[in-house]
Amino acid sequence: MKEQKYPLSWKKKNFSMKIFCSIPNIATGILLKAGNSHFVIDPGDGILRDLNTELGVKNLLNLSDVFITHGHHDHVGGVWSLLTYLRVMQKKTPLNIHYPDGCVEIESIYNAFKKVYSRSITYKINLVSIKKTNKIFTSHMTVEPFPVIHKEYLSSGKTRQVPAMGYNFSFDGMKICYGGDTAYCEELVQHARNADLAVLEAGHDEETPDDMHMTLKEAVSIGKSAKKYFLVHVPE
Ligand SMILES: [Zn+2]
Repeated sequence: MKEQKYPLSWKKKNFSMKIFCSIPNIATGILLKAGNSHFVIDPGDGILRDLNTELGVKNLLNLSDVFITHGHHDHVGGVWSLLTYLRVMQKKTPLNIHYPDGCVEIESIYNAFKKVYSRSITYKINLVSIKKTNKIFTSHMTVEPFPVIHKEYLSSGKTRQVPAMGYNFSFDGMKICYGGDTAYCEELVQHARNADLAVLEAGHDEETPDDMHMTLKEAVSIGKSAKKYFLVHVPE
């Protein structure tokens, strides 16, 4: 498959998204800008470097919300360094981390962080576990989480569904749909339809569909229902 060229950028009026990276098993990292507010989605390894280059310290310290689609390391590998950096730079405003209920990776990173730095954390971290598909309202943006199908292998060779969601981000009449890692599913089909931008993974490198990732064909078929789409997480 053709190699993706990162970063991928999209912008309409005051709403923009920059995908620094989305390489399966390596790292994801997405920055969303709505008006003057910045949001981080799936902070994988390298996110701090990319955010520092893109935003600088002041904007980074004002970061209010992080959205996690699921706990696989290529989506959360940068959380520890992000939290620690914000402590070192003495962030004062709260940080909300939204994540699917049952995502033990986020809760474990948070608990370890609290334990290690219990005496020197300068800001409040709110873990917001998403149990239902209720909308989330940030200062500027409405966020609608939706369940997706994403499995992982156990050591027994069997698979299990991991806590996983996609998100629809709405701002000023525009909508971005990000499915995270997902197999083809009706929820994603519905949420991507008519989106101004759909960010869709095409992580399955064979023709036969499975229940972990989408084939290129599946991702493209959903993408075409949106006004514009990016294919990400394509195996290199
Ligand atoms: Zn995954």
